Amino acid sequence: MSEEKKTEGQKLQEALGYKRTNYFETASKQEKKEIFAYAEGYKAFLDGAKTEREACALSVKLAREKGFTEYRFGDKLKPGDKKYFVNRGKSVVVFRVGTEDIEKDGLRIIASHIDAPRVDIKQNPLYEDGGMAFLKTHYYGGIKKYQWTAIPLALHGAVVLKDGTVKEIRVGEEPDEPVFYINDLLPHLGKEQMNGPAAKIVEGEQLNVVVGGLPYDDEGVKSDKIKLTVLHILNEKYGMEEEDFLSAELCAVPAFPARDIGFDRALIGSYGHDDRVCAYPALTAVLDHESRHTVLAMLVDKEEIGSEGTTGIQCAVYEDLMEDISAALGANFRKVRAASKCLSSDVTAAFDPNFPSVFEKNNAALLSYGTAMCKFTGAGGKSGSNDASAEFVGEIRKAFAAEGVVWQVAELGKVDAGGGGTVAKFVAKLNIDTVDLGVPVISMHAPYELISKADLYSNYKAFLAFMK
Ligand code: MN
Ligand code: MN
Repeated sequence: MSEEKKTEGQKLQEALGYKRTNYFETASKQEKKEIFAYAEGYKAFLDGAKTEREACALSVKLAREKGFTEYRFGDKLKPGDKKYFVNRGKSVVVFRVGTEDIEKDGLRIIASHIDAPRVDIKQNPLYEDGGMAFLKTHYYGGIKKYQWTAIPLALHGAVVLKDGTVKEIRVGEEPDEPVFYINDLLPHLGKEQMNGPAAKIVEGEQLNVVVGGLPYDDEGVKSDKIKLTVLHILNEKYGMEEEDFLSAELCAVPAFPARDIGFDRALIGSYGHDDRVCAYPALTAVLDHESRHTVLAMLVDKEEIGSEGTTGIQCAVYEDLMEDISAALGANFRKVRAASKCLSSDVTAAFDPNFPSVFEKNNAALLSYGTAMCKFTGAGGKSGSNDASAEFVGEIRKAFAAEGVVWQVAELGKVDAGGGGTVAKFVAKLNIDTVDLGVPVISMHAPYELISKADLYSNYKAFLAFMK
């Protein structure tokens, strides 16, 4: 409808109403090109970083390629410095020192996690039964257990041998390598299974990973011949003995690579979008762009199990690092924290038209409508949530508007439909204004999750606006 034909009421409606827009629809030709080009680097990151150890190592590699050097506690810092700080090989903070006075300007923090739900191998895992050798597992993070059966799995992780040598293990990602497998029941015999609650279709102790089927060729060996074959291979390849599983961190992750989804290639299917789809934009934003602010991309571990341990964001190491940076720049840490701002960048649930009943559509994130800001998370009356202030949301909103970021609001499902948390509340406890912002995901925590390339790029653009 042309301008002159609009009624006063129509014009008023346009001027006063809030409307979300599909980013693909509003992006210019050039921007569309950028959206698709950016996704290529992201897919490579997904395939190269299926565990927190790999994500940490790959981030360090990318940082070093861009001239970033390692920072250790007590090092000197000056404006313009490009640094990375590694915590136990499982989390990394990549940062740039800006020109602004950090007592007044604070730090700009983008916090994402690089662990993802998966199936961890137990400490005494290997046994044989029914013509197969298996590894016992204990799942990591919130998964629907039945989704992890009957798909190709890869084994990733590290083993510390009895002499202290650390061996990295990664099997099942190359086309010529074997993969691993968790059995499911055939439908013909699944009548009782299918009538049970979904949580019990496959139970935790049934998530046993098939790792062999060939009996060791020696008549003198009377039992556990398949297990012996597996042990023999592990010994030849890694110098392992069975006891070395005690000091191992191995996990089974989906073996399939990230792929474009749809005839138009608008979407990406992959394992581990949660939270690489935020970690990668955080990393590349800091690696590729100078800022007058001191900016940090914090890529942390253990979010999926409550941000615990020495590599989760609740560990003092991150606060120590910020304090150390402040000290190196001659600033009072309390003043720095009070002036700092954080985007807790984690994924949210995208509205799924196949399951509309758990969403409230006005406040659910829509796929391709841009990165989504979650003012509050939590469950049962916002319990356990960092409820960001209107003032801070207003500030971020203004920064996004100035840079033309296409973004939207999000709420993780209908009120009382469930809920979840992120690292936001732990950062906020340090007296740092924090709000959740991240990419909407379909089938979150499934072995193969779905996101939109538009939302990935919008997330990146939002980080650049935050750093401006
Ligand atoms: Mn997450
Ligand atoms: Mn998650």
